[in-house]
This record gives sequence, C-alpha cells and structure tokens, in this order.
Amino acid sequence: MARITLRQLLDHAAERGYGVPAFNINNMEQGLAIMEAAAACDAPVIIQASRGARSYANDIMLAKMIDALEEMYPQIPLCLHLDHGNEEATCATAIRYGFTSVMMDGSLKADAKTAADYDDNVDITRRVADMAHWVGASVEGELGVLGSLEHGGGEQEDGHGVEGTVSHDQLLTDPDQAVDFVRATKVDALAIAMGTSHGAYKFTRKPDGEILAMRVVEEIHARLPNTHLVMHGSSSVPQPLQDMFNQYGGEMPQTWGVPVEEIVRGIKHGVRKVNIDTDCRLAMAAAFRKVATQSKSEFDPRKFLKPAMDALRELCRDRFEQFGTAGNAAKIKVVALPEMARRYRAGALDPQIGKMTQAA
Ligand SMILES: [Zn+2]
Repeated sequence: MARITLRQLLDHAAERGYGVPAFNINNMEQGLAIMEAAAACDAPVIIQASRGARSYANDIMLAKMIDALEEMYPQIPLCLHLDHGNEEATCATAIRYGFTSVMMDGSLKADAKTAADYDDNVDITRRVADMAHWVGASVEGELGVLGSLEHGGGEQEDGHGVEGTVSHDQLLTDPDQAVDFVRATKVDALAIAMGTSHGAYKFTRKPDGEILAMRVVEEIHARLPNTHLVMHGSSSVPQPLQDMFNQYGGEMPQTWGVPVEEIVRGIKHGVRKVNIDTDCRLAMAAAFRKVATQSKSEFDPRKFLKPAMDALRELCRDRFEQFGTAGNAAKIKVVALPEMARRYRAGALDPQIGKMTQAA
C-alpha cells in the first residue's frame, strides 16, 4: 500500500527537480486511466477531488475507489488530495475519508466566490494546518485570487471561483506577503495567482508575460526557496483536442491554455504541483463526441468510455513525462501518516523561510 502525503511527495520532487501533475477525478474510469498511465511510466500520482466531485460520487464511493486503485497499483505512491476546501469541516471530513492532503483555499470566503481578507485567510489556513498536521496530513494554502489578467475575472468551475472582477493586485500574489503567509500558516505547499484561471477559457491569445506572469513564480521562489509552489488552472487546452472536439460537432470557441513549456519553466523555479482538470475533461469529451458521431447506432456506454479512457491515459502519460515525474515512483519509500505526524510535532517539517527582500 502506498498512500503518500503531499508533503513527502513534493519534498521528493523538490530534491530531484521534478513536478507532479494533480489530476481531478469524479469516477472510476478517470481513476483507472490515471493509474494505468502512472504504472506505465513509474510515476507517483496526485489524485484530487473537489467538493463537486465529492458530492457527485459520494465520499464513500470515492474513498473505496481510491482504496481499490491503491490495491491494484501498490507500487505507485498515491496522494489523495482535497481540491479547494472552503472551510474547516470540508477539510476535516476529507481526512476522515482517507485524504492524505487538503487544500484550504482561504483566498475566498466559505461561499467560494467572494475574495477574503488577508488576515482571515491566514487564520483559517493556520487552523486547518494545525488540525491536519496533528494526524500527519498535508495542507496546501492559496494566496492571491485566481483569475484572468486580461479581464480581471475568475472562471467559475464546480461552483468555485471569484465572482465579478477583482483588482489587478489581487490577481498577482505578492512575494513578500507570501513569505509572511507561509511563516504564519505553516502550509506545506502554496498555490499562487499569476494569471492562470480555471476552465477552458484561460487566454484569448497565446499567453505572454503580460497575461501569464511567470515572473511572479520566479520572484516567490527566490524568497521562498524551500516552499513547494502550486500552479492551479494549468491545463494546456491542446489545439488537437479542441480541433477533435469541434470536428465531431462540438462548438468550443478558440481558446489558449498554459503552454507546457511555461509549466516546465515553473518547475525549474519551485513549482511542484500542477493542477490539470480541463485537459482531462476535454480528452474524454472529444472521444465521446467522436464515437457518437461515427457510430450513431452505438448504445453501449463502454464503447464511449473505453476510447475516452485511452485518450485520458495518453494525456496523463504525456504530462508525467514532460514534468519529469516519470521514473520516480520506485525511488520513493512511503512514510505513513503517524510518522509524518510525529515529525510535525517535533518541528522537523516547519517551513524554512528564506530572506525577505524588504524589512518585515
Ligand atoms: Zn484550482
């Protein structure tokens, strides 16, 4: 059995200079395809479930499904992570169901659509980190509001995302504030805002530094060299998938995602977890459309789901190879939660803060 915490996995990734894609799941087919891809290239995995996924599949179903995947692939370290927890209870119940890591997104209020004050973000994230660390689980926090630097708005996905528009300042994580935040909350990983957003419609053109602020990643990494950074909304929305989706009757307006080479650049500057959901959805939905268009008499769901799983497996494998995750599963000796809890209590896992450029 190889249920790993996010902290241990990202510590390994930092030591060896690779990144780990975090794929969202809602159902068995996605779980199988991700694990098949991981096993094929010896990659450790992060499977994450949002509040939307938990209500779609039910906590019990999700938990048993992950147990099954773990049993089928004991050689693959598997981190089960809560995506965008909105309050303490969401995080606590996730841990109860076997999640080894939770995101407490205190950048938004509990309604998941209003930007929160900095102090409130610190307070709630600190409380969740204390609670999670008691049992050895990891915590990801978020500083800055995810949204487009082109129009100042966030994209609602699974009922999560800022509503209306927010200021340019809020859309870019402040590096000095990031140092203060990590010191105050003791998070294991930090999600930052730098122009990425959820959903398929991230950019209206191929992104440059104006709308995808990779310099923010570099500045934060320079001040927090030992903190694992997380890029949200980092699907690449590959053109071939958009074309296939539209070729078989879809109507997706032309859009641009985060180019893989920009993510690879981020991985060189402290990005260790890369959230990918849209690409997985698009890969499967394009495959559904192709079957529906080409085989109009087909009514066996498996005939739709199998090619969709093939497409997802291929996408996941590409990302494992591109981010350098491949080849690392066998090198990790998984540390169980009680031992992680002991290390937190001993202060061995406190974030090591680099120097701030300005006086605190
Ligand atoms: Zn996100």
